[in-house]
Amino acid sequence: MASESGLYWCETAWLGSALATPHVLVQVEAGAITGVLSGVECPAKATRLAGLTLPGLANAHSHAFHRALRGRTQVGNGSFWTWREQMYGLCERLDPDSYFRLARAVYGEMAMAGITCVGEFHYLHHGAGGTPYADPNAMSAALVAAAEEAGLRITLLDACYLHGGIGQVLNAQQRRFSDGDALAWAVRASEAVEALSGPAVRVGAAIHSVRAVDPAGIEVVAEWAERHDAPLHAHVSEQPAENDRCIEVYGVTPTALLAERGVLRRQFTAVHATHLAGADIGLYGAAGSTICLCPTTERDLADGIGPAWALRDAGAHLALGTDSNAIVDMFEEARAVELDQRLASQVRGLHDSVSLLRAATVQGHASLGWPEAGRIEVGAPADLVSVRMDTVRTAGASAHTLLETAVFAAGAADVHHVVAGGRVVVSDGRHCSIDVAAELGAVIGELVEGFS
Ligand SMILES: [Zn+2]
Repeated sequence: MASESGLYWCETAWLGSALATPHVLVQVEAGAITGVLSGVECPAKATRLAGLTLPGLANAHSHAFHRALRGRTQVGNGSFWTWREQMYGLCERLDPDSYFRLARAVYGEMAMAGITCVGEFHYLHHGAGGTPYADPNAMSAALVAAAEEAGLRITLLDACYLHGGIGQVLNAQQRRFSDGDALAWAVRASEAVEALSGPAVRVGAAIHSVRAVDPAGIEVVAEWAERHDAPLHAHVSEQPAENDRCIEVYGVTPTALLAERGVLRRQFTAVHATHLAGADIGLYGAAGSTICLCPTTERDLADGIGPAWALRDAGAHLALGTDSNAIVDMFEEARAVELDQRLASQVRGLHDSVSLLRAATVQGHASLGWPEAGRIEVGAPADLVSVRMDTVRTAGASAHTLLETAVFAAGAADVHHVVAGGRVVVSDGRHCSIDVAAELGAVIGELVEGFS
C-alpha cells in the first residue's frame, strides 16, 4: 500500500468521545496521522470531507468467497448445515487466479463500505483433493494481493482445519482445507508469515473450530500464535450441535475446552460465541478476550442471538465482522448488536452508539493485531472514513445525535470518501481503481455458471 501525505478538513469527526467534533483538521504524513486540530476553518490546500468522518472500520471476520453465494442461498428452507453444503459446492470452483479476482472485487466492495482493514479467516488452502499448490500458500498470496489492490490492510488469519467434525474424517470437499496435521499447518503458517507480512499485511492464526481441530492440534495452534505474538481467532459455539457434540466427547463446552488448552487470552477472538454457558462468559471476561459478532450472518444462518451485553459486562471486548458477506455494511452489523439485544431482552440502550463505534473501529483493529489503528489521533495509521449526513437516510440529524444517526440509520452507500494508510481509496462514492460492481458481476457470473 502506497504511503501518502495530505491535509484533510472534516466537517465533523468522531475523535472517540460521546459527541462528534466540528471542524477537525487532520494532517497526514507517510501514511500516518501527524496532527489533529479541532475548531479550525478549512485551509485552502486541505481536502474537504463533508459529513461525519470516522476512523477506518475494521471487518474482523470475513470469508471473501462466500460473497458469491449472496442471494443464491436464500431460496427454499434449511439450516446452517444445508447452507454449508452450498458453500462447499462453491469452494470446488476456486483456484488462486479466480480467488484473487473474486477477493479483489469483494475487498473493493468493503473499501466502498468504509472498511480499511479486513480479517480474512482463511481455510481454503489447497488444490483438488487436498494436494498443495506449487506454492503451498498460493491461495493466501492471492488474498493478500487482492487486499493490496483494493487498498485495504489485511490480517490473514491462517486457519488450521483437520477434521470433518469431532471424531469424523474429512469429506472430499473438506480435504482442500487440511494440511494433514497441526505441525504441518504450523510449518506452512510460518512460511506465510515470512512470505506475506508487510506494512499492510499481518498473518495471524485461526483454529477453525473445535469441530475441525482436535485438542492436541488446538494446543499447537495456540502455541504458534503465542510464539509469533499473533492474533488467534476461532469459530466458537455458532450452533448448539457443536456444543452438544463437544460436551458428549470431551465433557466440556467448546469455550472450556479452548480455555483448558491455553487459547483464551487477550489476543484471542472468539467468533460468534452465540450459544454460551454462563461460565463461558466469565472465562472470556477474565481473559480480556474479544468476541467478534457477525449479526447479519448469524441471522441469515438462523444461528441465534449471542449474549453480547453479558459478555461486554463481564469484561470481554466486542468486535464486528461481515463473515459470509451476505451483506457488507458495518453500520448494519453495529446496530444489529443492539437491536438484536432489544428483541431478546425487551430493553433498549444496552449498547450505545459510542460502544458500537468502538467495536467497529478500535476494538476490531486490536482483534486483528493493529492496536494502533481505528482512531483519529497522532501516531495512528491515516484511515479516514467519511459518511454523508445529507442523504435521505441521514439528513436532519442534530449536532448532538450525529453518532446515533450514523450508527442507527446510515448505510454503506452513505460512505463517500475513504483514506486508508494515507492513500485515497474511495472518492465521491467510487472506488479509485476498481469498477467494483462490474468486477463482482463478471467473476461471480463465471464462478456460479451452472450453480443453483
Ligand atoms: Zn466464519
